[in-house]
Amino acid sequence: MKTFALLALAALPAFAQAAGKGKTEVTWYGHAAFVVKTPGGTTLAIDPWINNPANKDKGAIEKIQKLDYILISHGHSDHVGDTVALQKRTNAKIVAAFELGGQLAAAGVPKEAAGFETLANAGGVLKLTDEVTVALVQAVHSSGFQAAENGPILYGGAPIGFVIQIKGGPTLYHTGDTAYFGEMKRIGERFHPSVMLACIGGHFTMDPTDAAIAARDAGVKTVVPMHYGTFPVLLGTPEQLGKALQASAPRAKMMQLQIGETRTF
Ligand SMILES: [Zn+2]
Repeated sequence: MKTFALLALAALPAFAQAAGKGKTEVTWYGHAAFVVKTPGGTTLAIDPWINNPANKDKGAIEKIQKLDYILISHGHSDHVGDTVALQKRTNAKIVAAFELGGQLAAAGVPKEAAGFETLANAGGVLKLTDEVTVALVQAVHSSGFQAAENGPILYGGAPIGFVIQIKGGPTLYHTGDTAYFGEMKRIGERFHPSVMLACIGGHFTMDPTDAAIAARDAGVKTVVPMHYGTFPVLLGTPEQLGKALQASAPRAKMMQLQIGETRTF
């Protein structure tokens, strides 16, 4: 039996073995913060509020040494998060709404990292590398930016979500902060996302009931809940999402990550 298994493995075409090795790693840091590593080695952070109150690993941010891109869905401090410090350390480029990029440049991010190449708006499809394409899509939310706590609220452009297409890997749809909206169906039809990183906390965003409808409309197979439990008002739970998926999107499965956990796709 063992010999047979080994022979079967040896008979696999070389490309299939290589594809097996080339996994995409997704790490959740709590709230809406993720780091994605592609098989080709491109590293993207999304809404990197690494030092959020739910993340007990206060050294987590120091462990992030390489980033090629930082994707920021909107200007709120719980999403811009540790962008300025991480950008300084890694020299990553900023992918965000045009106006938010401008505000970040004024707040200390070098202009070379926040330029026309990577600042865009909903509707934009950016080919970041031969392997990674990021589409900026609509989100129903707000996007004020404060450079300092208690400072004036500055215009951060429109809030957005991201659809990250990885060659030979998953297509990840990070919803950003958003209410449910009917165009999620269209996002599904155009980009065929396989995994939705979905806000479920309610109050500022979708709750579990609407997140399940969103998963159905976008046609995803896997839903990773995020943006819950960080603040007392974010009452939606993964348990509620699991039930709502059974009712509204039975083909989609929930994948609940622990803070600091990495899953491969
Ligand atoms: Zn927000």
